[in-house]
Amino acid sequence: MAVTQLLSCALLVIAVGAAAGFQEGLRGHQIWELPSSIPAALEDLLRDGLLDSLSHSKSHRKVHVPVEGLDNARRILKERDVEFKVLVDDLAEHFQGERRRRREVDTRAAESCTENSCPAPLSNAYMTFTQMEYYLREINTTYAPRVSVKSIGKSVEGRDIWMVHVRSGGCAQGKSVYLECGIHPREWIAPAVCLQIVSRLAVHCSVTRAFNVYIVPMANPDGYVYTWTTNRLWRKNRGNAGGQCVGVDLNRNWGFKFGVGASSNPCSEVYMGPSAFSEPETQALRDVMTSLSEAGNLELVIAVHSYGQMLLYPWGWTTEEAPDTPEMAALGEIFANTAHLRHNTVYTVTSSSSGLYFASGATDDWAKGVLNTKFVYTLELRDTGEFGFKLEKSQILPTTQEVWEGFKAMLLAITGQKYTLL
Ligand SMILES: [Zn+2]
Repeated sequence: MAVTQLLSCALLVIAVGAAAGFQEGLRGHQIWELPSSIPAALEDLLRDGLLDSLSHSKSHRKVHVPVEGLDNARRILKERDVEFKVLVDDLAEHFQGERRRRREVDTRAAESCTENSCPAPLSNAYMTFTQMEYYLREINTTYAPRVSVKSIGKSVEGRDIWMVHVRSGGCAQGKSVYLECGIHPREWIAPAVCLQIVSRLAVHCSVTRAFNVYIVPMANPDGYVYTWTTNRLWRKNRGNAGGQCVGVDLNRNWGFKFGVGASSNPCSEVYMGPSAFSEPETQALRDVMTSLSEAGNLELVIAVHSYGQMLLYPWGWTTEEAPDTPEMAALGEIFANTAHLRHNTVYTVTSSSSGLYFASGATDDWAKGVLNTKFVYTLELRDTGEFGFKLEKSQILPTTQEVWEGFKAMLLAITGQKYTLL
C-alpha cells in the first residue's frame, strides 16, 4: 500500500511539475512593439539575437526579446530614441494563461486522431509530433504501394526525419517534386498544410500521374517538440554546437554561400552553425535531395515556411538574378493567381533577397546553386503578420485549400497543361 501511495504521489509530482514547466523556456521573455521602420543598425541587432521579429504591420512591428537581452535591448533603443511598448511582460505566463483559457472553451476532442491512431491529418487542430508519426505510419500501410514513408535520418535528439513518397501513376519517366516543411518549428502551419497535401495526393491519383512527389512534413522534429513543451517561439534545432546557447538555424546551415548574411553568434535566432551542414538534420535533407537530383528529373523544390504570404525564388544571398528567373517568376504567378481564386488570399511572387531579407545557407539557394533544380521556391504561408507564427487553427483548412489549388496548377503548368478550377 505504501508503495502504491508513494507511486501515485510521485506521479502527481511529475504531473504538477510538467504543468508548471509548460513554456518555461520563455520565462521572463517579453514581446515589445516598435515602430515599423527602424534604423539599419537595429536590423543588425535583430540579426544578432537581441530582438526577434515576430510580426509587423505598416506602422508597427512586434518583437520577441529574450530575457538575457532585455537590458541591452532597452539601453540600445533608448540611446537611439526609438520608442517601444511592452505588450507581454512574461511570455511563459502568457502561454500558460492561454492554455488554461483554451481548455475552458475547447474541451471537444480533435477530429480523427485517437490514442494510438490517426487515419487522417487534423484540419481543425495543430498536431503533435507523435500524432504526425501515427498518421505517417497509417498511410504507409493504407496507401501502399503507391505511398510509402521512410526515415531519411535522425535529429540531434534521435527522432526520425520522415519522408513520404507518392509515386507517379505509371509514368516511368515521371518528374520529381520535393517539399520540405517544418525546418523552422514555430511555423506550425507549414507541417499542418504539408500533411494535408500528403493526404490529398494519396487519394487524388490523377494529380501525380506524371510526378513522383516527395514530402518531408517535419524536417526539425526536436525543435517542433520543444515548441509544444517549452518555447512556442523556438526557431532553431536543438543542437549544441555553439556552446553557451542551444540551436542552429537549419535554414542558414546549408553549404552554398554559407555565412553571407547569417549570424555567427550562437545565441542568435539565425545562427548558421560552426560549419556548413554541421547538423544531422541538414545532412539528411541534403543527402536525400542529392540522390533525387542524381536520379534525374528533380524539377521543383518548395521549402514551406510561414509567415508573409509570399512565394520567393532564389537568390536569397544576393540581389543578382538566378538562372531560370523568368521561368520561376512565371510559374510562381501561376501558383499565386490560382491560390487567389480560392479565398482571395494574395501571395506575392518575388526573389528572396528583394522580398524578405538577405539570407544565405538556406535550402532554396542550395537547391538552385548546387543541384541546379529548375524551379525552386520558399513558400511563406499565411498570414501577413496579424497572428504571425501563432496562426489560428481555423486557418489550417483555408490555407491548405488555396495552396493545394496553387500547387496543382504548378504541376500542370510544368507538364504544359492549363489549369481550370473545378
Ligand atoms: Zn521559416
